[in-house]
Amino acid sequence: MAALFAFRCTSCDEIHEGSPSFGFDAPSPYTQLSEEEKRDIAELSDDFCVIASPEGTQYFVRALLEVPILGVEDPFLWGVRVSASEKSFKRYLDTFDEPQPGDGFFGWLANRIGIYPTEQSRGADVWIQTDGTRPRVVLHQSENASDALARDQRDGISVRRAQQLAEQAMHG
Ligand SMILES: [Zn+2]
Repeated sequence: MAALFAFRCTSCDEIHEGSPSFGFDAPSPYTQLSEEEKRDIAELSDDFCVIASPEGTQYFVRALLEVPILGVEDPFLWGVRVSASEKSFKRYLDTFDEPQPGDGFFGWLANRIGIYPTEQSRGADVWIQTDGTRPRVVLHQSENASDALARDQRDGISVRRAQQLAEQAMHG
């Protein structure tokens, strides 16, 4: 199995090494707040985000969405935020230092991934990891049947597609 992913980029002519990885600093609902709202009703940290909007408090957790690259060890990685219910969020906080095997919760993907446009909200299972890494997002297949991101996560992508997606994500 070829362990490393590297390619010469058709866009910038550099060699990009390592499986592609892109991330978001905050959930979309946070980035849409005004500066004043961010200060007054929201809290953002590396792993968590809470928005106390008048319609109800929203909770978000930082997680990883992996898309397997066929024949390559490391997956194409999306660092995303997912929503969590109040109950799931509290459980995640309570067990943050001692994550429990098999723990997980339902969440909505809280970032828009430009190269994977969709009109739908993406529901997912979010699986807690016990090895110190961030929770893993597994998109629901049933309601995301026409979603290229869900399909790519389920089936994996070729090295060629990974390269094309990475170029698009990096260089637009
Ligand atoms: Zn490039």
